[in-house]
Formats: sequence, C-alpha cells, structure tokens
Amino acid sequence: MIYLGAHLSSSGGFYKMGRTALAMEAGTLQCFVRNPRGAKVRAVNPEDMAKLRALMEEHRFGPVVAHAPYIMNPCSKDEGIRELAARMMAEDLALMEHLPGNYYNFHPGSHVGQGVETGCRQIADMLDAVVTPEARTMVLLETMAGKGSEIGGRFEELRMILDMTACRDRLGVCLDTCHVFDGGYDIVSDLDGVLTEFDRIIGLDRLRAVHINDSMNPLGSRKDRHARIGEGAIGEAAILRLISHPALAGRPFILETPTDDAGHGEEIRRLREALSVGEGGGE
Ligand code: FE
Ligand code: FE
Ligand code: ZN
Repeated sequence: MIYLGAHLSSSGGFYKMGRTALAMEAGTLQCFVRNPRGAKVRAVNPEDMAKLRALMEEHRFGPVVAHAPYIMNPCSKDEGIRELAARMMAEDLALMEHLPGNYYNFHPGSHVGQGVETGCRQIADMLDAVVTPEARTMVLLETMAGKGSEIGGRFEELRMILDMTACRDRLGVCLDTCHVFDGGYDIVSDLDGVLTEFDRIIGLDRLRAVHINDSMNPLGSRKDRHARIGEGAIGEAAILRLISHPALAGRPFILETPTDDAGHGEEIRRLREALSVGEGGGE
C-alpha cells in the first residue's frame, strides 16, 4: 500500500479535507490545524474530526500529518516567541487528540545567531514541556534546507535535538525531499547512500513521513523553493524511486508543491500511473 497525499487547503474543516483527499484518490493528507501565519487556533469541532476519523477508517487511509504554523520558532532569541511556540504546539496537540494515532510535524526553527547547540537545547526543552506521556500523536521534526540559521539542515542536528530530550521515544522525523536536496543530500544520484546516512545518524525507524517536492534549485543550494514534481532539479524519476524504495514502505508521501488541491490531484494521478507502469515490469 502506497499512501500518497497532499497538503490540502483546510478551509471547510477536517471532514471536507477527507472528502477532497478521496476525490483525488489520495490515501492520506496533510493540513494546518490553524492559520499558518497567524497564532490563532481553530475552534475544536469534535464532531467534524470524528467524521474524518470514520472516513479514514473506512477508506484505510495512512496516517495524516498536521503541520505546525510557519511562524513557530522554538529557538528564537526572544523568550516571548519561544513561549508562543510552546503554547501553539501544546494547543495543536490537544486538538490532535481528537484524531489519535497520527502525526504533528514542525520546523525545528532558526537559532538566529545563538548557535546550533543553544538552539537545539531550546527546541528539546519545548518538546519536553509539551509532549506528554499520554499523547497519542507522534511529533515529527522536519528535515530542513539549512537556509540562514535554520536548524535541521543536517541529520546530525536532528540527532542532537533527539538526544537532548527525555521524550525522544515519542518523536519521529519527516524527510522533505526538496529540503534534504537543497541541504546537500544527493537523493537523485545516491538515494541509497542518503538513506544509509539517515539510518546511521537518526535511524530509519524514526522516519515516519515524507514530503515529496521537487526543488527549483540545484543540490546544496540551501534555498527551499519547492517545484512541482518533474519541474525541478530532482525530477520525477528520483521521486518515484524514493516512493517505491523498500526502506520507506508504509510511510505517508505528501506533496507540498506550488499548486492547489486540483493540481495536487493531477500530480497524484500522474505518480500513480507511473508507479503502476513500473510495477508491471514496463521498464
Ligand atoms: Fe514543512
Ligand atoms: Fe516540507
Ligand atoms: Zn519547504
């Protein structure tokens, strides 16, 4: 079972997103649980979330991924911004309890000159404050492009955060293809090498979700500009190899390419077609 999905527009609520995912023949989805650029949390509607839960069960969806807002920076120099990050994550995780057994993904943040170690310490402290032993949502750290003072552009940095937490057994990692490629990991010519490196430093058992994006920029550019699959430096063939790689079997693969829900539906159909051609021994 390959769980393909996309980051959906969340206007209209959770159940509506589930219907949209079904209509595009997706097997999972990603969404924001609040305005991505604002701090305001959406009012919890347990009934709406229960309906999505039922739909996911009926149609055997893979785990869905909630994405933290972009403005969250748990390793800001400013204590108020760090506290806001902790509060937003705690609220989001409380909301996700209505959708148990899924993922909550966040960008580790930018240390803004404080240094990687101080930044990792602050991220770890926040995680230990908000990830409770009872929580049924796994929090994922996203691999980043390493733009500016962004933490998470090297697998070692994510490892450092994990090592600094007490709650590490309840944490996972989401690999973003555009980000790792921009960070210098060559998933085009050496996917096996990159996955081996990931396994050595973090452990593939921690890799729980994958963002599939092409990149507008070359390997190691540290730019983080997503492109549609096949319209960037990574290319469709490399993305297909990754989706069907045995080491990544069972993970949700989520598109975050620059298009709308309809465009994502088209991309999913194209990927499915290409994957079934591969299976049929057409190569
Ligand atoms: Fe992200
Ligand atoms: Fe991503
Ligand atoms: Zn990105």
